[in-house]
Amino acid sequence: MNSSKIAIAIHGGAGTIPRGSLSPSQEKMYLEALRSALEAGYALLKSGASSLDAVCRSVMELENCPLFNSGRGSVFTHDGKIEMDASVMNGENLDAGAIAACTGIANPVLLARMVMEKTDHVLLVGEGANRFAEEMNIPKMPDDYFYTEFRWKQLESIRDSGKTMLDHQADKKFGTVGAVALDQQGHLAAATSTGGMTNKKYGRIGDSPIIGAGTYANDISCAVSCTGSGEYFMKCSAAFQVHAGMHFGGLSLEQSSSQLVHQELPKIGGDGGLIALDAHGNVCTPFNTEGMYRAYIDKNGKIEVLIYGIG
Ligand code: ASP
Repeated sequence: MNSSKIAIAIHGGAGTIPRGSLSPSQEKMYLEALRSALEAGYALLKSGASSLDAVCRSVMELENCPLFNSGRGSVFTHDGKIEMDASVMNGENLDAGAIAACTGIANPVLLARMVMEKTDHVLLVGEGANRFAEEMNIPKMPDDYFYTEFRWKQLESIRDSGKTMLDHQADKKFGTVGAVALDQQGHLAAATSTGGMTNKKYGRIGDSPIIGAGTYANDISCAVSCTGSGEYFMKCSAAFQVHAGMHFGGLSLEQSSSQLVHQELPKIGGDGGLIALDAHGNVCTPFNTEGMYRAYIDKNGKIEVLIYGIG
């Protein structure tokens, strides 16, 4: 199918982001970062590139921006380390790749894509993911590339509490990143990348690198990238559930994604949101938190870059 309709949506995390919690200049910084990541992916779609290229490009931009909890701006584990998770999925053929608890690389989403394209596997974790990065000649970044005083203070504020914290609960800013896109050929793709949750325990992996939980794409239904309390998104098979509601339940993108976010997740205590896009270029960005950093360009070329509001 050559639909020639293109669309893209991105997120920078959902959470407790009350209006007024950001200064006007901070707000401007986040909105600009979102817009520039969105436009980078959209430019690729316009030039005829694949949705896979577009989602990776937008996510890379967000990983390079210290404002968001992924790549450079990742949060610290309980042990004061940075362990990153990422995944990608191609809706055309259901190819998928992911890495988890990976250290020292600037763009986990690219490594996830390499797992998809250069191995027979879907998910590589920890030491294995690091060895794979070395084999792919991905340069190791020094520790200080990932260090921000702000994130360190975030960890120190809850380190001894035994609790984990969504990035945006701590400081009411920032978060996991993701993108979904529809290309000129009618193919969908999704990608998600995160540092996880502040103070997470050794070996903790969230929903973001789990295909069907944090990320899912299938041309017959939709592409989805989630953000929020990962354990609950895993228990709900969140991203797959949006697909299943459409494919098996006959729901629209909006019905299926909002049922998950406003009914299924809250039932078990899950908070967060997602971005979703269907093969007709419809975009949905539901969330059950106070805000979600999000931006999209829909099939009509309408651009929205938003933080607050009702999801
Ligand atoms: N879902 C991510 C995780 O649990 C966190 C986030 O969305 O900010 O690792």
